[in-house]
Amino acid sequence: MVKKAIPEAMQRLFFRVFVCRVCKAKIRADPAKVKKGKVKCRRCGSHALRPKRRPL
Ligand SMILES: [Zn+2]
Repeated sequence: MVKKAIPEAMQRLFFRVFVCRVCKAKIRADPAKVKKGKVKCRRCGSHALRPKRRPL
């Protein structure tokens, strides 16, 4: 069992990934763009995205 995975992999998996609050689709985008509201969900067109940075 791997407790603390490779930091590089974790960053790649979670750092730039956001989750749509409406349809839970995963979207990879720049955090700066998301903050400015330039990124919207491809599936439902919503701007309600939350960062996915907490590995459970
Ligand atoms: Zn969506």
